[in-house]
Amino acid sequence: MSLTAKVLWAMGLGVILGLFINLGGFNTEGGFVNEYIVGGLFYVIGKMFITALKMLVVPLVFFSLISGVLGIGDIKKLGKVGIKSFGLYMLTTAIAIAVAIGLSTAVIPLFSSPSAQTTAAFTAKEAPALSAVFINIIPANVVEAFASGNMLQIIFFSILLGISLLMVGKKAESLAEGVEVLNEAMMKMVTIVMATAPVAVFALLAKAVSELGLDLLAQLAVYVVVLVAALLLHLFGTLMLILNFFTRLNPFILLEKIRDAQVFAFSTSSSNATIPVTLRSVTKRLGVDNSVASFTVPFGATINMDGTAIMQGVATVFIAHIYGVELGVTGYLTVILMSVLASIGTAGVPGVGLIMLSMVFVQVGLPVEGIGLILGVDRLLDMMRTAVNVTGDAVVSTVVAKSEEELDISLYQEREAGLVEVLEIDEEIEEEFAEVVHSVEAKS
Ligand code: ASP
Repeated sequence: MSLTAKVLWAMGLGVILGLFINLGGFNTEGGFVNEYIVGGLFYVIGKMFITALKMLVVPLVFFSLISGVLGIGDIKKLGKVGIKSFGLYMLTTAIAIAVAIGLSTAVIPLFSSPSAQTTAAFTAKEAPALSAVFINIIPANVVEAFASGNMLQIIFFSILLGISLLMVGKKAESLAEGVEVLNEAMMKMVTIVMATAPVAVFALLAKAVSELGLDLLAQLAVYVVVLVAALLLHLFGTLMLILNFFTRLNPFILLEKIRDAQVFAFSTSSSNATIPVTLRSVTKRLGVDNSVASFTVPFGATINMDGTAIMQGVATVFIAHIYGVELGVTGYLTVILMSVLASIGTAGVPGVGLIMLSMVFVQVGLPVEGIGLILGVDRLLDMMRTAVNVTGDAVVSTVVAKSEEELDISLYQEREAGLVEVLEIDEEIEEEFAEVVHSVEAKS
């Protein structure tokens, strides 16, 4: 069984167990299941796994970006990759939110009626000013940027270092080789962490589902159904059309090969923590050269959030309707613009999309406490939109790579390419170990 299949099984079993705990009422505060199973065992396993993924992100992005820049070897081409991916990321986000608004304005009024009576409370967090977002791309202190995992700053510094190494020329060759080796080692580390995914994903899902407010889900059914429909439409419709339009490639292959990244994004609710898996899927399975993917993947995980923008569009229409506020064309255009901007400033971590939504609400004059209404169901929806977010990153990476002739089309088309077989990892590790032991023995 492939790793993906195992993880999918684990996901299913996790959901079933979570539902059993939730519906059976076993998750009572202070009870054994709550204390030791959900809040104990599942929490620890899930947290360890997410932390292991996060551990990989910074060194992986650093080494793969430097080797990517050295691989491109041409600063002009680097600029082209940057501009193209930025443009496509913004375009896909704008389309996503426009479709979401269109769908929800057509459907939501049919199934829910305005009722401003609400006891929900939500206090807005300060959203960063856009000017600060741009200034903050440059790290004042590189160590701090790495320590805090500030992705845009790390990208900025790594590219600059790569360019500088290019300028140093011949003298930097051995270092470049070293970086290449470290990049490969980091990729191996990704497969090692991925091998533990079945157990971790089971724990993550069992915990998440057992804690879900299922009754809330039914109360907010209109919001949830429209949002999920918009997410699916974007995933299977818009993104695949964009892929096919720009590359003429078969989108079903991408959908199949990006599943690992989607499952990891779904389980962790974090595009950022999923970077290692997305990068692996995009390079080893879809055939995007590291020179493009090393930039587009972490960049996308930071600034491109189609799923989040969709949630913001649907939520705005839903809350405006509940409060009986007419947004009008200008209001909707403002929502589109604000959500696109908000997605640049949103970090790819759990739940931030909802915080950034307050920025959109303030701008169009909707009551921020309205967000409190949808807070209870956001956990599950965050998982879904994060899976859409990383798919958008993969699609844009593939489109940019194809246009730059950095896409290995035969690898893209080969269905089995880059599959992580758990067994294969074991054998690989065993073989490598055997070799090391052998050489040590020979020496002694
Ligand atoms: N969890 C999302 C992500 O990491 C961001 C959000 O919408 O909250 O992509």
